Amino acid sequence: MSALTSVSGFPRIGQNRELKKIIEAYWKGNAALEEVRATAKELRAKHWKLQQEAGIDLIPSNDFSYYDQMLDTAILLNVIPQRYQRLAFDNPEETLFAMGRGYQGDKGDVTALPMKKWFTTNYHYLVPEIDAATEIKLGSTKPFDEFNEAKELGILTKPVLIGPYTFLKLARNPQAEELKYDQGLINAVAAVYDEVVAKFADLGAEWIQIDEPYLVLDKEEGDLSLFKSLYSKILPARKGAVKVLLNTYFGHIADAYETVNLLGFDGIGLDLNEGREENLAAVKQYGVAENTTIFAGVINGRNIWRNNYAVSLGLVDALKQVTKNVAVSTASSLLHVPFSTEGETGLADDVRKHFAFAVEKLGELHEVAVLADATDDEKKASAELKANQALFDGTRVAPDSAVAARLAALTPDDFVRQPARAERQKEQREALGLPLLTTTTIGSFPQTKEIRAERAKLRKGEISKAEYDEFMKAQIDACIKHQEEIGLDVLVHGEFERNDMVEYFGQNLNGFLFTKNAWVQSYGTRCVKPPIVWGDVSRAKPITVEWSAYAQSRTDHVMKGMLTGPVTILNWSWPREDITHEQQTQQLALAIRDEVLDLEKAGIKVIQIDEAALREKLPLRKTDWHKKYLDWAIPAFRLVHSAVKPTTQIHTHMCYSEFNDIIKDIDAMDADVISFEASRGDLVVLDAIHDANFETEAGPGVYDIHSPRIPSEQEIEDRIYEILKKMDVEKVWINPDCGLKTRGNAETWPSLEHLVAAAKAVRAKLSK
Ligand code: GLN
Ligand code: ZN
Repeated sequence: MSALTSVSGFPRIGQNRELKKIIEAYWKGNAALEEVRATAKELRAKHWKLQQEAGIDLIPSNDFSYYDQMLDTAILLNVIPQRYQRLAFDNPEETLFAMGRGYQGDKGDVTALPMKKWFTTNYHYLVPEIDAATEIKLGSTKPFDEFNEAKELGILTKPVLIGPYTFLKLARNPQAEELKYDQGLINAVAAVYDEVVAKFADLGAEWIQIDEPYLVLDKEEGDLSLFKSLYSKILPARKGAVKVLLNTYFGHIADAYETVNLLGFDGIGLDLNEGREENLAAVKQYGVAENTTIFAGVINGRNIWRNNYAVSLGLVDALKQVTKNVAVSTASSLLHVPFSTEGETGLADDVRKHFAFAVEKLGELHEVAVLADATDDEKKASAELKANQALFDGTRVAPDSAVAARLAALTPDDFVRQPARAERQKEQREALGLPLLTTTTIGSFPQTKEIRAERAKLRKGEISKAEYDEFMKAQIDACIKHQEEIGLDVLVHGEFERNDMVEYFGQNLNGFLFTKNAWVQSYGTRCVKPPIVWGDVSRAKPITVEWSAYAQSRTDHVMKGMLTGPVTILNWSWPREDITHEQQTQQLALAIRDEVLDLEKAGIKVIQIDEAALREKLPLRKTDWHKKYLDWAIPAFRLVHSAVKPTTQIHTHMCYSEFNDIIKDIDAMDADVISFEASRGDLVVLDAIHDANFETEAGPGVYDIHSPRIPSEQEIEDRIYEILKKMDVEKVWINPDCGLKTRGNAETWPSLEHLVAAAKAVRAKLSK
């Protein structure tokens, strides 16, 4: 016997990113839609079979998506804004992609839906828009089609849906400040879920999983009654035929558990990694309803380290004190981990054995389930348990005493830059001689096929370092010339030498490990390959100095040096679990500080330290924000730049604009300038900047780089005037939303020309 096993979701992009490749080929006109559909079908089948072979009982379906599962949910509910419906495409996929990435062509010109980070992950979902014209009804058959597809293969899957509560909490009404959850809306949404549940009951599904991760957030007034009101309408649709698993993850639901338990779900999924103590306490306090099974989320869906079986078994045992109905599950979808360690031949066996990616986690889930039902004698005899224990005995990696000594020597002064910012900003303006509404970019320029090929050639030893350098220098020269021609003010070298803003730094730091194929999805078809923090971190040698110094030598304009900040490096790596995040971030801060000071020495006057991922790991519960995160993350950033000269201008960049609620903390990073994404979302952050007397100069992105669409000059000019309504012109910078590396040259240069022209036009009008 073994406990029931359940996987919340499986990576869909494919072991070798097959889905990405075919979809991108289709976008470029190099593949037919039929081919996309066929690849998708093959991948689904492969993934289901893998899980079946691993002995998983409840295998998810409808966890597949061409672009994003929230977008799919919107389409399921027919929440498709008019502007996309009007394009009147023949194929549903075309509408889906237009919503995801915008569309510019024969049928019209529309921007994409806004995109936001999915809770504390680096995965982005599309924000559904519900307005007066929305007619909510069952709008797609995707969940049923995929269920039937698996059934034909002989696999009875557990369909997965994003739940109505999470959907409504994350949707917005573009015409109003807040989405109003009136009875009409609640009824309409509940009716669709009702129909879906009933249909699955008819189709013979045994379980259906409804994800409500929004339950792990702090509750506002009315939240729990909204939840109750939705589910008391939906649950009767089970007709005693299909069981509903209410699944939660990324935190605890202590403040909702009682409500959830009373509703009588057949299963409740709890995250026992991120919400461990609180979830366990809630179960103990309120008990478990008689017919409810607790799905113990013990297999971490957010890390790449092997599961510690003794810990997981302890958690299952703790639940068993309260109820005999315990299933074991992944703590969240495995979407956020890479596919398999199998191909990672670059890692030594005794290193690789510490890692478990999605496929290996299936095996762990199965082993834990077997052990969970084993007798004490069986456990004692278990070779699996013994082998697992051995991974956690002793020290995995020896500490670096030099790093420890440097950290121990830090004093409070090391975290404070002098003189105060207002004074520095004055000096900088004079020293740098920049115009009002200074134009700049976020750092990277399009990474063409040739550029990627050149990096690959160097890696494979097909060209010499000298040949490579020559190629890159030519790229830099051309990029600088082009930037000068179109009239940008603060230039960048283009970041052609970087595969990725985190991996590139990791490769030049001690303590990191790299994978060949450990990709995870970030947005749409875009994937990232985070490095692994294996040991103590320090800078092995200067990283960017040569490139930046070369670039500066080629122009009279100010050349901006480009670095990735310590918080982002850690957040976009796989962190260690044997020392704290705070400790790892401080080690990183010292390493990047060395680089900042070397850049300054080499004559670089503007240095951007990207903290693209700072917000991402802000704890979901407000009470944890400062004590569990900001209290060390913000000082770590200051440690990086506190020793530069007053005239050296420090920039930072963030890939989002949701920092209204931590605006004081962002200001406390003490950067001189910040650029951030603002074009896809609304501009409420500008109010926050205004109200907080934000001291940092700021460049709210004036156009969206996640879409291939070219913004017109007028559009950007309008945007600048929007910004000027809320910000002092002296503090405004003009830049795109983010780096341009994912874009093509064809759309990048005209977009930037429009940006410069718009800035110039506004400047001219201002000086009249
Ligand atoms: N400097 C980086 C770039 O331009 C920043 C990327 C990011 O913020 N994600 O690509
Ligand atoms: Zn960015």
